[in-house]
Amino acid sequence: MFVSPNIPRLLGFLPDELIGRPSAHVIHPDDMGIIANAQCYVLEHAAEPLTVQYRVCHKDGRWIYVESTGVNLLGNPEIEGILVSMRNITERRQADVDLRIAAIAFEAQEGMFITDASSKIIKVNRAFTSITGYTAEEVIGKDPRILQSGRHKSEFYAAMWDSLNRTGEWNGEIWNRRKSGEIYPEQITITAVKGLEGSVTNYVATLTDITLNKEAADKIERLAFYDALTGLPNRVLLRDRLVLALASSHRSGQTGALLFIDMDNFKSLNDTLGHNMGDLLLQQVAQRLESSVREGDTVARLGGDEFVVILVDLSEQALEAAAQTKNIGKIILDILNQPYQLTNHFYHSTPSIGATLFNGHEQSVDELLKQADIAMYQAKTSGRNTLRFFDPHMQASITARVALETDLREALTENQFKIHYQPQVYLNHQIVGAEALIRWQHPERGLVSPADFIQLAEETGLILPIGQWILEMACKQIKCWEHNTVTQHLKLAVNVSARQFHQVNFVELVTQTVHSNAIKPDRLKLELTESLVLDDIDDTVCKMNALRELGVGFSMDDFGTGFSSLAYLTQLPLDQLKIDQSFVRNIGVKASDAVIVQTIIGMANNLGMEVIAEGVETEAQRTFLDQHGCQICQGDLFSKPVIIEQFELLQKPCDHFDRS
Ligand code: C2E
Ligand code: MG
Ligand code: MG
Repeated sequence: MFVSPNIPRLLGFLPDELIGRPSAHVIHPDDMGIIANAQCYVLEHAAEPLTVQYRVCHKDGRWIYVESTGVNLLGNPEIEGILVSMRNITERRQADVDLRIAAIAFEAQEGMFITDASSKIIKVNRAFTSITGYTAEEVIGKDPRILQSGRHKSEFYAAMWDSLNRTGEWNGEIWNRRKSGEIYPEQITITAVKGLEGSVTNYVATLTDITLNKEAADKIERLAFYDALTGLPNRVLLRDRLVLALASSHRSGQTGALLFIDMDNFKSLNDTLGHNMGDLLLQQVAQRLESSVREGDTVARLGGDEFVVILVDLSEQALEAAAQTKNIGKIILDILNQPYQLTNHFYHSTPSIGATLFNGHEQSVDELLKQADIAMYQAKTSGRNTLRFFDPHMQASITARVALETDLREALTENQFKIHYQPQVYLNHQIVGAEALIRWQHPERGLVSPADFIQLAEETGLILPIGQWILEMACKQIKCWEHNTVTQHLKLAVNVSARQFHQVNFVELVTQTVHSNAIKPDRLKLELTESLVLDDIDDTVCKMNALRELGVGFSMDDFGTGFSSLAYLTQLPLDQLKIDQSFVRNIGVKASDAVIVQTIIGMANNLGMEVIAEGVETEAQRTFLDQHGCQICQGDLFSKPVIIEQFELLQKPCDHFDRS
């Protein structure tokens, strides 16, 4: 019937487009129910206003939320109608919705707190309480500083505020403290909320407890870069640190040092007390090493009983840096020499340390590690429990060794080995046998003495094929001698090295060789050394007995030079003791050595063994030996080791002499 001027302004329709039409055509279909109910109420309650909310249509198609009051004025003669007023509440409705969403979002999984502009907490959510342990009542009105762990320096917080002030936001990982006192890592985002006039009204912080993520990430890092047993950096991390140390030395000009540390006789600890004890020792070594270096230095474990220490920021002067390194090396030696308590065992251990210095980028990481390793090896060979510096001469000798090894590998296939025979003479005239001594006829170096390559052959394992070759040649020689009445009584002594003897199938190899050459086994004599025997006494006794069964004889070479107890002597099926040449040489020179010679002879007699002296060079020595009951001699006095043809020439005069 009538519209006020504000209605066309609100709905966009002209009064003419509204007057005379049903009001329903501007009302949202879903809200028709509200209208119908309201109409009923209003019609029944004269002059009583009713307010409802519903949507009406703007001419341009938008829906507008209105709050509308209707009042029944049908009885009023001036109006005789229903008066409806309305105002637009669309924005207010939207704000309500936003608020509801915000309230739900606030109670999300992430912890949240809101502060006012002066950083006093005004609101926290439930997740906040479950993460921090603080209820809303306990923290509202407080400063979030109550959450600080004390792990961050003041600069950390200063940077955070700086970012908040500049960009309105800060995001990062932070160590906080729960109400229980537990410190935990948290991922946190803080946003400054600004009012219309641009100043900060609130700060909103969202936080996630990342203890579990952090633990997993830490574990992954530990596995990849740290040694599980000792917790020290592993080889991978060591290389990283070394690269950094080289770069830093390059920048600063300061020298650094690399120490290579290897525990002496670690294997025997493992073998005798077990791997658990070995592990305990390594853990204690790791702790002691860490305690003896400075904070910026690195202690790493390469594996086994090998540790590496990187020292940084030493003097710029090489000599002074070397002195500093030596001092620290001394500290490490001392501390690693202290007894270790391994459960209920007190154990003493020592390290061998190799050191090398670096300055700038001159050497590569690999080179440095190799140098320190070489120096460590040098420390081992000079008696262990000591520190050695890398020096280039050392490297030269190692290079030479490597070259020798390469050549040695070819020597067998290239037929470069020869055997020389040194006669063993009974009572000055009768040759009773010989010792087979290997020679290496090197195409460039000439004749190489076994002293220069046997050890290398042992270390590289080449002694196995070489030893087998000698054994084979010796048996062939014995067979030749058997065919000749002049030589058929000769025994041939063959030196056996430790590695060769202790190989599992040594007994089988000897048996096979003896059988395939069809020799009388008692013509073959194996020379063993004391250290070989003591390496593994049970294995030795067992193998010697088996070979003795076969008929092969044994001589104890270099007798008297070992530091061993004599008790084992009676356990071994030995035929002969061979007095070491060092004592023989000192007959008439050093009284105590002459006494030793006499003692060995007496011992051999008492044990029912034969005795032979080696290295007999003078008539005086021979006379002394003869007078004291050693009737068999070997040495340059009779003949140097010679090739077989020459040896057989020696044989004849003796033989002739014998028969006459
Ligand atoms: P060895 O078994 O004690 O051999 C005795 C060494 O003393 C030999 O040195 C021999 O030439 C030397 N010699 C003998 N009489 C005299 C003397 O009157 N004066 C001096 N000054 N020396 C004398 P060689 O041949 O150089 O052998 C050195 C060592 O190499 C041997 O000591 C032995 O341990 C090892 N060896 C030699 N041949 C073999 C082999 O075929 N197999 C193994 N495993 N080792 C061998
Ligand atoms: Mg020998
Ligand atoms: Mg000897």
